[in-house]
Amino acid sequence: MTVFERGWLSANNILFTGTGDTAVVDTGYHANAAETVALVERALGDRPLARILNTHLHSDHCGGNAALQARWPGARTAIPPGQLAQVRDWDPVALSYEPTGQFCPRFHADAVLQPGTETVLGGRGWRIHAAPGHDPHAVVLFQPDLRLLISGDALWENGFGVVFPELEGEHAFAQVAATLDLIESLAPATVIPGHGRVFDDVPGALARARARLAGFEADPAKHALHAAKVLLKYKLIEWRTQPLDDAYAWLSRTAYFQCVHQRFFGATDRRAWFGQLVQSLARSGALRLEDGVLHDA
Ligand SMILES: [Zn+2]
Repeated sequence: MTVFERGWLSANNILFTGTGDTAVVDTGYHANAAETVALVERALGDRPLARILNTHLHSDHCGGNAALQARWPGARTAIPPGQLAQVRDWDPVALSYEPTGQFCPRFHADAVLQPGTETVLGGRGWRIHAAPGHDPHAVVLFQPDLRLLISGDALWENGFGVVFPELEGEHAFAQVAATLDLIESLAPATVIPGHGRVFDDVPGALARARARLAGFEADPAKHALHAAKVLLKYKLIEWRTQPLDDAYAWLSRTAYFQCVHQRFFGATDRRAWFGQLVQSLARSGALRLEDGVLHDA
C-alpha cells in the first residue's frame, strides 16, 4: 500500500498494489488529474488499475475518477451507496459541485461501498462504516488486523472537514460527534486521513477534533465563517490569481456562500461581507490583495 500525500486541492490517494486487485482510494481534484494518473501509473508499472474507491464524492476526492477511468477503462468504481443514482444521472447540484462553485468531470460508478460489509484491498478485508457529518454519505474503511483506518474527511490530525449540511441549516454536528465516537470505538492504531500526513496519535486527534466541534456547536456562526473562508481559499488555490470583482461575482453565484451569508451574516451587506472574508484571509497569510487582484499565498 502506498499513500500519496497530496497538497491542497487534492485529497490523498491510497494505492494498493499487493496481492489481489490493484486499487486506489480517492483520486484528488480534477485540476491535478494528470499528476494523479502519472503517480498511479508509475507505482503500478505494467499492471492495470482494477478498482477505484471513493470515501465520499466531494470534488477533491473523486475529481481524478474520470481521468483514471479513461486511462484504465476496465477499472471498476465503487462509491458510497447514497449517491449512486446522482452519479448515474449526473446531478452536479446534488453532488455538491455547483453549490460549492467547484468542478468535477463526469465519471461512472459500478458498485457501492455498503456500510456493514467488507471490501478486500491489498489482500485484506476492510470494513466499511458509515461516517456522516462532513458529508452525509461518507464512509470510512477500517482494517482490523492492522488497526488501520482510512478516514477521508471525518478525522484529520487537526480537526475534520467542514460540516456542509450545517451550512444549509441541517443539524449535523451530532453526526460528527457520533462518527468520532465510532472511530474511537474502532481504536485504530494509525489513521490515513483525506488530507495531511498519516498519523498514529489517534487519541490526541480525537481530542482536538472534539474540542473543535464543541467550539462550532457553541457558535455555529464561527463554523459558517470558517467554511466560507475554506471555500474561498480553496477556489483561490485553483485560480492562483483572480481580480477581486471576478472573485466576488463567483461568490455571488455560488449557493453555499448565499446560504452562509443569509443564515449567519445577513445583517452585513454581501459585498462588505466578502471584503471581510478577504481581509481575514489576508491577515492569516492565506492570500495577498494587490491593486484589486487576489493572489494565492
Ligand atoms: Zn470532503
